[in-house]
Amino acid sequence: MLRSALLAASRSPQVRTVVEKFPPTHAIVERFVAGSVLDDAVTACDDLVATGRKVTLDHLGEDTKDAAQAAGTAEAYEHLLKALKETGLAAGAEVSVKLSAVGQFLPVDGEKIALENARRICEAAADAGTTVTLDMEDHTTTDSTLAIARELRADFPWLGIVLQAYLRRTEADCREFSGAGSRVRLCKGAYKEPESVAFQGKHEVDLAYVRALKVLMAGEGYPMIASHDPNMIKIAGQLAQWNNRTRDSFEYQMLYGIRPEEQLRLAGEGNTMRVYLPYGQEWYGYFMRRLAERPANLTFFLRAMATRN
Ligand SMILES: Cc1cc2nc3c(=O)[nH]c(=O)nc-3n(C[C@H](O)[C@H](O)[C@H](O)COP(=O)(O)OP(=O)(O)OC[C@H]3O[C@@H](n4cnc5c(N)ncnc54)[C@H](O)[C@@H]3O)c2cc1C
Repeated sequence: MLRSALLAASRSPQVRTVVEKFPPTHAIVERFVAGSVLDDAVTACDDLVATGRKVTLDHLGEDTKDAAQAAGTAEAYEHLLKALKETGLAAGAEVSVKLSAVGQFLPVDGEKIALENARRICEAAADAGTTVTLDMEDHTTTDSTLAIARELRADFPWLGIVLQAYLRRTEADCREFSGAGSRVRLCKGAYKEPESVAFQGKHEVDLAYVRALKVLMAGEGYPMIASHDPNMIKIAGQLAQWNNRTRDSFEYQMLYGIRPEEQLRLAGEGNTMRVYLPYGQEWYGYFMRRLAERPANLTFFLRAMATRN
């Protein structure tokens, strides 16, 4: 119930105005977001890389409504990738991109515009010597995102995709994308989805995650285990052993600000541990999805609201 309400609020302009104007929000947002400008992102990335973690940077933004804004987002990624190249951080940092931020939902030629902008970002990543992963948004975008990914992978075979275990289709998608060289980030899924397309309860989603992970780990690709769940992390380690995978043939991923000690533990054991690091001014949707995931995050936020005077 609470999760549904928060996810609905993440799409509400009215709630957005209230949350954004509420001063303590910003202190809480800082826990999950590196800052609002490129320099903040580079500094936070540098700090993470210095502790043996890798990074994937997200220039925050989604549901872009006009072509100029979509092109502006692609340009922001080009600047970011140039900065990663110049600072020598590209060896430890890649970027994550939401296709809706680069035009996927535009009413005229949305997919074509998103493909062109994503191509620009991939070219900049290739020039910097790093990679790109396409984030996955709600289920209405899955076919379109995977179609764009297939096109881009013809020229940029290292392009990563995200598959969401809560979707009933995902086990089959994992089979398609488990071939040699294929980089797949497996997450549980963060959007409000109908029962017709997605498993609803935590137990069902966890079981679906394990089934999908089994396919990826047995395949020839590069699985990226994006979860904070101790059970999923343990099972991933076991599956890696059973499939004779070396530590450089898969990686763990977590969100910035979540379970940092566990991130360091996994990295300290010699695993690749990548932190998803968002930055920029469009933090609202991202922040609300984080609140929806974990009641403790919400309690923290509500306590700040209650004590603001
Ligand atoms: C790198 C990365 C990229 C992602 N990209 C996408 C994407 O493209 N599309 C998408 O839909 N979703 C994405 N997500 C979000 C994802 O789908 C989940 O919503 C989110 O990761 C929460 O699921 P979970 O696997 O951590 O498990 P949950 O079921 O949320 O949590 C399980 C357990 O993990 C532990 N845990 C979780 N959070 C915390 C915390 N804050 N502190 C301490 N322990 C905690 C607790 O033990 C908890 O019981 C991404 C997640 C990551 C890590």
